[in-house]
Amino acid sequence: MRLRLTQAAGFEVEGLPFCIDAGRIQPLGIITHAHTDHASRHESIVCTPETALLLGERWKRLTVRAIPYKQTIKLEGARVTLLPAGHILGSAMVLIETGDTRILFTGDFNTRSSPLHAPAEPVHCDVLVIESTFSRPEFVFPDVERNRQMMRAFVDAARASGYTPVLTGYAVGKAQQIVKLLAGYHETIWVHPKIDAFCDIYRRAGIDLPETRVPAAGAPSGGLVVMPPNFTRTEWRQRISRPRVCFCSGWALDRGRGSFHRSDQIIPLSDHADARGLVEFAQATCAGKVYTMHGSALELAEILRGEGIDAQPAPDHWQALRAAEAVQYSVQTLDLFDS
Ligand SMILES: [Zn+2]
Repeated sequence: MRLRLTQAAGFEVEGLPFCIDAGRIQPLGIITHAHTDHASRHESIVCTPETALLLGERWKRLTVRAIPYKQTIKLEGARVTLLPAGHILGSAMVLIETGDTRILFTGDFNTRSSPLHAPAEPVHCDVLVIESTFSRPEFVFPDVERNRQMMRAFVDAARASGYTPVLTGYAVGKAQQIVKLLAGYHETIWVHPKIDAFCDIYRRAGIDLPETRVPAAGAPSGGLVVMPPNFTRTEWRQRISRPRVCFCSGWALDRGRGSFHRSDQIIPLSDHADARGLVEFAQATCAGKVYTMHGSALELAEILRGEGIDAQPAPDHWQALRAAEAVQYSVQTLDLFDS
C-alpha cells in the first residue's frame, strides 16, 4: 500500500479513488471541515451533514453524500467512518479501513473541551496522519474558563476606558466560540454579516448560541462587537466608534509573530489541539506509523520519535508502507490483580 499528501490532491491512499481535503477539484473528495483551506468544490463530496450546511453557504448546487458521525459507509472498496474532531461545527476525522489496515486522518482537530464541541477521541489504528499546527512546546492552551475570564477582563477594561470592545476571530468556528463565551455578559453582541450567517447555521444544527445582531449603517451603540480578523482593512473599521481590538487565536503564543491584524491585545483561544494534546492523542491511538502534516510537521515527528513512536512528515510523493511500518496496533492490557 502506498500513500501521499499533496496540496492539490490532498491525502490519498493508492488504489482508493477518493482524496481527503484536496486543494483542487477532484472527482470524489472527502472534506473534513468547512474551512477554506480544506474544502474544494469537488464533483462529488463526502462530509458530515453539518459541514454540508456550512459549504452550502458558500456554494450552491453541490453533490454531497452527508454521513453522520460514527456511521460507517462503503466507499469504492474501503470502509469510511467520520468521527467528531472537536474543531468547528461538523469537523470530522476520517477513519479508513482497507484490507486489514486502519488509517486515521485527523484533519484539524481539538483534544480539549470547547464551549461548543466535545473533544476529539482517539481510536486505535495502524497508521495515523495527524495535523501538527501547534506542536511546538510553547503552545499550551488555557482551558475554557480561563479564556472566558481573559475575554471578560478585556471587555471590562475597554469599556472602562471609553472604548468599544471588538473581539476578532475567523468567521467560521472561532467567532461562534467567542459569541458563546460572552453569552449573557452584555445585552447585545454585534457581529459582521458573514459571522451572523454562520451563527444561524450553527443554530440550525442545534447549537445553542445567544442572539447576535448586525449593525445597520453607522456605529453600533453599546454592547460589544465580534468581527473577522481583517475587519480593520474594511469599511467596518470606520463604523465602530473608538474600537479596542482583541485578536483570539492560538497564534497568540507564537513568540516569532510580531503583529496580529493591528490588535491591541491577543488571547490564545484556539480550536486546535496543543502540543501536549497532539502527543497524547498519537500515543493513545497505538499507531505503528505516524505521519505529521501542516505547520510544524518536522518538529512534531521529532517529538514523537523521542517518545518512541515511529513518526515522520507525511510524504508528498507516493511512499510505500512497508509491512513492518503498518504493524497492527497493540492494545495494552492491565492486570487488575497485579500489586
Ligand atoms: Zn480548520
